[in-house]
Amino acid sequence: MKTDIEISQSVNLTPIKEIAEKIGLKENDLELYGNYKAKIDFPTIQKAAEKEDGHLILVTSINPTPAGEGKSTITIGLGDALNKIGKKTVIALREPSLGPVMGIKGGATGGGYAQVLPMEDINLHFTGDMHAITTANNALSALLDNHIQQGNELAIDPRRIIWKRVVDLNDRALRQVVVGLGGPLQGMPRQDGFDITVASEIMAILCLATNIEDLKTRLSNIVVAYTFEKTPITVGDLQVEGALALILKDAIKPNLVQTIYGTPAFVHGGPFANIAHGCNSVLATKTALKLGDYVVTEAGFGADLGAEKFLDIKVPNLKKSPDVIVIVATIRALKMHGGVKKEQLNEENIEALTHGFSNLKKHIENMQSYGIPVVVAINEFISDTKQEITQLEALCKKQGVIVESASVWEHGADGGTALAKTVASVIENETTNYHSIYPVGASLEEKIETIVTKIYGGAGVSFSQKAINQMKTFEDYGWDRLPVCMAKTQYSLSDDPKALGAPSNFTVTIRELVPKIGAGFIVALTGDVMTMPGLPKQPAALNMDVLEDGTAVGLF
Ligand code: ADP
Repeated sequence: MKTDIEISQSVNLTPIKEIAEKIGLKENDLELYGNYKAKIDFPTIQKAAEKEDGHLILVTSINPTPAGEGKSTITIGLGDALNKIGKKTVIALREPSLGPVMGIKGGATGGGYAQVLPMEDINLHFTGDMHAITTANNALSALLDNHIQQGNELAIDPRRIIWKRVVDLNDRALRQVVVGLGGPLQGMPRQDGFDITVASEIMAILCLATNIEDLKTRLSNIVVAYTFEKTPITVGDLQVEGALALILKDAIKPNLVQTIYGTPAFVHGGPFANIAHGCNSVLATKTALKLGDYVVTEAGFGADLGAEKFLDIKVPNLKKSPDVIVIVATIRALKMHGGVKKEQLNEENIEALTHGFSNLKKHIENMQSYGIPVVVAINEFISDTKQEITQLEALCKKQGVIVESASVWEHGADGGTALAKTVASVIENETTNYHSIYPVGASLEEKIETIVTKIYGGAGVSFSQKAINQMKTFEDYGWDRLPVCMAKTQYSLSDDPKALGAPSNFTVTIRELVPKIGAGFIVALTGDVMTMPGLPKQPAALNMDVLEDGTAVGLF
C-alpha cells in the first residue's frame, strides 16, 4: 500500500475552476490561489444565501486512541461515495494546524484513497489563513502592550492581562514567558504565555462569524484584560477591531479544494476540539449547504468534544442542525477501549471488542439524546477479521442503531457506496427533532454539570476555588448564561486520559474558566489539559524532507 502522500501525488488534479463549476460557481466567483485552490468571495456567498439549505451530515467518532479512527477519511470517502450514487455533495472540513503536522504522524486531509488535495499545501501553509489568524492575535498583543507603554490611559492592570500570544506550532517552551524585559524602553515587564494558534479566540471568531460586520462586533467584544478596579477591558476599548478585521479580510473567506475523486471540498478554519470548539467555519458549512444538496462535515476528536460543541455552539450560529450523525468506529480502537495493547491489535479479540463497545454505546446514546438519527460507520482496516466485523454489527443492531462498514481508505468512493446509500435513506426516511443538551438560559454551573453527567457519564463536577470565584464575577459581568466550551482530554470520556471504555463514578475537575466573549462562550479548563501542546519524543518532522524539484517527502 502506498503512503498517503504517494497516493496524493499520483493523482492528476482537476483545475479548481472546473471543480467549482460542479456547484454552479463561475471563474469570477473565485479568488484563485494557483490552479488548485481558491477562496470564495463575499458577493458569491451573499448570492448563494438566497438558496435553500441542503442536507447536513455530521461525522464524529468514538474517543480517539493511538490505533486511529479515520474521521476525516470517512468524511471525505462518504462525500465521494454520495456523489458516486448521484447525490450532489460538498464536503466541509477544518484546516490542519502545523502543530500536530510536525508533531504526531497524521495530517488532517484524510488518508488512503479518501483525501483532499493538494495535501502538502493544505497541511503546510495552504492559503495563509493560519498565518493571518496568528498575526491578528499577536497584533492585538503588541497593541495592548503598547497601550500600557504609552501611558496606560485605560488603567489596565498588567497582572490581569488574559490575552496571550500564539504560534501555530507545538512549542512547550513558550507556555510561560516574561515579556518587556530590558528597561523602560522595552515596555512593561509582565508574565505572558503562548497558546497554539488554533486555540486563539480569533480562530473561534473566524469560525463563528457570519459576515464582516459580525466579525468586527465579535472582535470588539474580546476581553483582553481587567483594570486595577477589575473592570473588563475589550478590544473595542482599545479601538482596534477594525485593524484586526482588516488583517483577517481574506482569511475569513472559505477555501475550495477537491478530493481524489473531484468532489468539491471547503477546508476552512481549524480550532481543536479538545481546547477549542472543534468545527470548521460557519461560513464554509453554510456556503456548502447552499451549493450542495448534501454536505458532509466533521467535528474534531470524539463525540463528547467535537460533536457536543457542534450541536451546542455551532448549530445555533449555523441555524441548521444535522439531519444525521455518523459515528466512526474502528475494530482496532474499540479493542483498545476493551484493554488490548497497541502491539496486539492485529490479533482477533472478540472479547475485548465486546468490552470496548461500551465507549461506542455511550456516544450513540449521547448523539441520540440530541434528537438526531445516528448511523455507525465501521472504518475497515485490513487487519479486521470477518468475525470481528460481524460481532460489531451485531452489537450495534442489539443497540437498535443502523451500522454500515466502509473501506474508503482502501477502495475510495467504491468502498463507501453502501454507507452513502444508508445515510441517504436515513435522511429521506427519518425525521429529526434537534434540541440542545442544556437550556440556553441555564447557568454556567448547570451547563457544565449537564455536559459532565449526561455526555461524559460522570457522577459530578468539582470546581476549584478559582472557578467558583470566577463564576461569581462572571455573573456580575453578565457572562453567566453563555454556552460552555469544555477543554478536556480527547482520549477519555472523563478528564483522565487513561480511563478508556465508558468510565463511571468519576468527578470532573474544573480548574479555571476563560471568558471568550467575542466567540460567545466560556471555556472550562478540566484536569491538566494544555492550550499549548508539546512535541513527542519522535516528532513527525523527523521523517520530512523536500527534493531538489520541490516535491514534499514524508508528510505521512
Ligand atoms: P481522524 O480524522 O479521526 O483524526 P484521519 O482520517 O485523519 O483520522 O486518519 C488518521 C490516519 O489514519 C491517517 O494517516 C489515515 O491514512 C489513517 N487511516 C484512516 N483510516 C484508515 C484505514 N481504514 N486503514 C488504514 N489507515 C487508515
